[in-house]
This record gives sequence, C-alpha cells and structure tokens, in this order.
Amino acid sequence: MARIPETELERLKAEVSVERLAEASGLVLKKSGRDFVGCCPFHANDTASLVITPDKNLWHCSGCGAAGGPIDWVINNVNWGP
Ligand SMILES: [Zn+2]
Repeated sequence: MARIPETELERLKAEVSVERLAEASGLVLKKSGRDFVGCCPFHANDTASLVITPDKNLWHCSGCGAAGGPIDWVINNVNWGP
C-alpha cells in the first residue's frame, strides 16, 4: 500500500465524514439520539449493530467489533460497489 503522509491522514480524518461514507456505500442509517445506527457492512447481520458517532467522526460495531474513523472504514470496506 502506498504510504500517506501523517499530515494528509489527519486532514482526511477531519474532512471525510463517516456518515457520508456509510451513505455512499448504500447503508441505511437511522438516527438514534446523537448517533446513527445501521446494519454493519463488515459482517453478516440483520440488526443495526453499527453505531456512527458524527460528533467524533467514529464508528463502532457491537457485532463484529470493527471500529475506527473514516480511513478505517475505507480500509475495511472491501465492497467498493459501482
Ligand atoms: Zn460488524
């Protein structure tokens, strides 16, 4: 994998919204208080085990334990879609 400078990573983390990444990958998000919940795209599930926290720009899945920020989302998301 190409090496990305740390400053560029920090910029991406700040500017790329996890919520938008999730929506772009076709995920249906439901608002839950300050968070959004949806089905985790990283393991097979029918329940909304994925929680996105827009305030912190972080996501976490209680089902498979995957978690991170926008960059981790992209790395985890093998289903790039059309
Ligand atoms: Zn999961």
